[in-house]
Amino acid sequence: MTSDKAGQAQATVERALKATEVNPYEMFRTQVGLAGEKLRLPVDLLEMIKRPERVLEVSVPVRMDHGGIEVFTGYRVQHSSARGPCKGGIRYHPGVTLDEVKALAGWMTWKCAVVDIPLGGGKGGIVCDPTTLSEGELERLTRRYTAMILPLIGPQHDIPAPDVNTGARIMNWIMDTATVLRGEPMYAIVTGKDLGVGGARGRREATGRGVMIVTQEILNRLGRGLPGTTVAVQGFGNVGSVAALLLHESGAKVVGVSDVSGALYSPNGLNIPELVDYVARSPNRLIAGYTAPGVEELPGPEVLTLDVDVLVPAALEGQITADNADRIRAKVIVEGANGPTTPEADVILEEQGRVVVPDILANAGGVVVSYFEWVQNLQNFYWEEGETNDRLSRIMRRAFQAVWDYARERKVSLRTAAFMLGLERVVQAIRLRGIFP
Ligand code: GLU
Repeated sequence: MTSDKAGQAQATVERALKATEVNPYEMFRTQVGLAGEKLRLPVDLLEMIKRPERVLEVSVPVRMDHGGIEVFTGYRVQHSSARGPCKGGIRYHPGVTLDEVKALAGWMTWKCAVVDIPLGGGKGGIVCDPTTLSEGELERLTRRYTAMILPLIGPQHDIPAPDVNTGARIMNWIMDTATVLRGEPMYAIVTGKDLGVGGARGRREATGRGVMIVTQEILNRLGRGLPGTTVAVQGFGNVGSVAALLLHESGAKVVGVSDVSGALYSPNGLNIPELVDYVARSPNRLIAGYTAPGVEELPGPEVLTLDVDVLVPAALEGQITADNADRIRAKVIVEGANGPTTPEADVILEEQGRVVVPDILANAGGVVVSYFEWVQNLQNFYWEEGETNDRLSRIMRRAFQAVWDYARERKVSLRTAAFMLGLERVVQAIRLRGIFP
């Protein structure tokens, strides 16, 4: 082999390794495998639990504004219904793949088990770039996708919700489409809706609120509090912006934030309420163009390696990898996103004494309040926001304590503890039910 060819082959191998490292489904399988080994579970049972129960791929034709048809690929994956109806969001993103949706569905199973709500895990996605679609195209895409996954979803089967690039408006359309096609009110088929059509007070802020609560809990355990703590937040969408705002309101100093358009940094702390307001009024809901005295712009990825007390990755999966883990300076990492840290990076972070509050605990606030929304829809009886927030806080703090104690007793990381605890609960349900036939 010429040295050129050898170099190319080496590059191919490295690319393949990297792809495996950030293949979310491989990440998920590794995480479950590690927990399963520690619990000495049989390999066949573990294999069953790693795999999704059901996978649906749909080709969604949409009449575009220019008159032609475009066909989008969509998925709905049901990972596990052992503990209850499948539950999980729908993501609209150009990078959606089946393996990503399978991983996200699996993480939902674990998330619901860790916070101990009676739901299983599912997830959906459409490969698309919603920023290039008109309102009409987005609505037609959503309604047709809903019609095509309707055989799988339902209040007692599988209940979608918002995820990356989807929010209340899209959830309202999903509910309305199901209602029209089934010929009866279908409020409980989807959560994250607007208040006027069966949404729950507090749902929009719930994931960010949960992130704030677990940040408080971990800092307390480490003998500190939020006031004066410096924070960096990657991602300024529904999770990152609300987490930043609530952390700021609780006295933390949010010094850095980023989104797809770049990063902002101010050593004295950013004015988060002003930034949230700016983003809400900007056409693409981005931080780009925001200026204030003492605020510098940084390249986006640098937000991860800022010298802060707490880092909140709240963007996409595979952000903290073997390539950058040793440059992370935050003592505490609270995962607002799903799967932001690869298993390889986890090892490095642990060696360096970083404390990671794992996604399946840290960002579970969203699904907890989705559970409340579903319950309210089924009963047609709606709660005050205070009741939602009190119940959310109790569930998050109880789950945090359970994972913390588990990690202490077994001398494992919080991630391994959360996966072990979740696995025990999923296995218990499977054993109680038995395997059909
Ligand atoms: N997409 C959110 C998550 O990853 C929320 C899911 C839900 O509310 O069902 O947890």
